[in-house]
Amino acid sequence: FNNELQRSEKMEIISELAASVAHEVRNPLQVTRGFMQLLTERAEEGQKEYLSLALKELDRASGIITDFLTFAKPELEHITVLELGDELRHVAGILNPLASLSGGVIKLDVPHQIYIDGNSSKLKQAMINLVKNSIEALDGDGTIKIWAVKDKDYAVISIRDNGIGMDMNELSRLGEPYFSNKTKGTGLGLMVTFRIIEAMNGKIQFTSHKGIGTEAVIRIPLSDTEQMEKN
Ligand code: ADP
Ligand code: MG
Repeated sequence: FNNELQRSEKMEIISELAASVAHEVRNPLQVTRGFMQLLTERAEEGQKEYLSLALKELDRASGIITDFLTFAKPELEHITVLELGDELRHVAGILNPLASLSGGVIKLDVPHQIYIDGNSSKLKQAMINLVKNSIEALDGDGTIKIWAVKDKDYAVISIRDNGIGMDMNELSRLGEPYFSNKTKGTGLGLMVTFRIIEAMNGKIQFTSHKGIGTEAVIRIPLSDTEQMEKN
């Protein structure tokens, strides 16, 4: 038996299953939330507390789906050549409204024609989790800057915010499952991001200063297609 092969086949089955469950579960969660909110408005004082706890738990459930499976598609993982600018523009587009809501802006500076190999849904999930953390770290207004460059055989991506920042202890715990300092946090976002980047043979490094902000720098090998174009 080839154990490695079996393991990756199992992983594929699990992620396909998770993706379809995510799609199926999201709608009923949304509907339930709506009805619960209606009930809260009509409830008597003693009942409001329970309803608000129930709403919080519902939000936690959707948080888990968001951190894990925002773009998950119930199909076998599809690796293609990705144009980094396209992917990052899509991510910024999706998160712009959320940034505006908390008084922030996302600034994007990514040149064209940086190509990497990967799965588009997964890469977007990894980036969304990083940018969402930056938005949530903004203390009122603030700026999130996303830029990318080519450096030798690598694409280098930086996501920088001027939010609340982290101390050494927090920095060292990033990516640990369930490590979260937020009331609505899942503590799963960065764990997912780290795994995705690792699977792309990439690396991620954080620098942060309390009260000043945080920068995540990601290095992912350029696609071979890109290498060929250079020669
Ligand atoms: P969650 O966002 O659900 O808390 P994550 O894994 O995404 O879980 O992040 C874990 C923790 O790392 C966050 O709760 C936060 O304390 C810290 N963190 C991550 N990114 C940033 C950032 N850009 N600025 C400040 N703190 C951050
Ligand atoms: Mg997060």
